[in-house]
Amino acid sequence: MARSLLISRIGELVTNAPAGGGVPAFDFAGSAGFAAIPDAALVIEGERVAWTGPASQAPPADEFLDAAGRAVLPGFVDSHAHLVFAGERSAEFAARMAGRAYRAGGIRATVAATRAATDAELRAGLHRLAGELLRQGTTTFECKSGYGLTVADETRCVALAAELTDEVTYLGAHVVPAEFAADPDGYVDLVSGPMLDACAPWCRWADVFCEDGAFGADAARTVLTAALARGLFPRVHANQLGPGPGVRLAVELGAASADHCTFLTDADVAALASSGTVATLLPGAEFSTRQPYPDARRLLDAGATVALATDCNPGTSYTTSMPFCIALAVRDMRMTTEEAVWSATAGGARALRRTDVGYLAPGARADLVILDAPSHVHLAYRPGVPLVHAVYQSGRRLPPTSDITGGGVPGPGRCE
Ligand SMILES: [Zn+2]
Repeated sequence: MARSLLISRIGELVTNAPAGGGVPAFDFAGSAGFAAIPDAALVIEGERVAWTGPASQAPPADEFLDAAGRAVLPGFVDSHAHLVFAGERSAEFAARMAGRAYRAGGIRATVAATRAATDAELRAGLHRLAGELLRQGTTTFECKSGYGLTVADETRCVALAAELTDEVTYLGAHVVPAEFAADPDGYVDLVSGPMLDACAPWCRWADVFCEDGAFGADAARTVLTAALARGLFPRVHANQLGPGPGVRLAVELGAASADHCTFLTDADVAALASSGTVATLLPGAEFSTRQPYPDARRLLDAGATVALATDCNPGTSYTTSMPFCIALAVRDMRMTTEEAVWSATAGGARALRRTDVGYLAPGARADLVILDAPSHVHLAYRPGVPLVHAVYQSGRRLPPTSDITGGGVPGPGRCE
């Protein structure tokens, strides 16, 4: 039988689950609520959460960890990241901060560097970024291809991503590569045909950058329909740089998520609110491009489900920090601290159609973050501060612990 660990004296346990420890509803439409228990405890058994509730009612366990008043949250779920690439674009960032506007074509610089890199170089970069994610509390992440843009390069990018996550997204339709500049339709044929066939075995998702300068609605529909026919589920880069058809297409195709959602019409907002498509907001991109932030308040007030993610990529959002995105969402997008934390955990889980992560209740995967702070509010209140004290993924502490005590277990409510 799996050994059990009691974590007690938790100042605030964010559960995102109904009081009494029930499992949240997973209807994938509408934002279920943030929920938390003060003066709480949690029991892990093997890879799963076995019990949550007031510390005074905690059951015995094989091992014991004193949280000493710290807050415990579900591990962050980063549902949008581009982590397989070579090179960096700090010079482009510096130029943009000095006044130059972002256009989608900057992706091509990373494509050239990625094609020139060895598998070992790409793997090393991916592992470095995945390590950053984990140290900052992210226990589930999605990873897209999109910087290879040949059959061979896209295939090795999704295969590398699949070494580290189950949430791999085929993004052959990231931008039309230079060699297809005179034949964009030919590139759509490649992406929705041989390239898709080669990549599909490693992927759960397919994504298209549906934007002026990238792919229009018809090309995006062609790619995503072909992907659906091969068992991949759609998600869409939509309405980032201006109004456009991306959100409507995402809803039409039943996509799990429409990502960015910076420029939305009332019809776009209504379509998201009445669908199972999550609006994934990526404030790191607006921070790094000085575009206006998406109007989270408008989406939430309309009843849409909102997720927060990093969009980690070397061009427009080179951050792996979900706490940073939470701080931006609270400070600049008028989300409450509760909404931002929900969107960075349960919201991300919904954007990936996952029912095992994003909340802490019996049966959930034991993915959690212990903060060096008494409440989740500190994630926004203390921006830029490394508040992650410990991370558990599938019940295992990363890095290994020194402050768990084995053997005897304190009785209910007693702590060392
Ligand atoms: Zn992106």
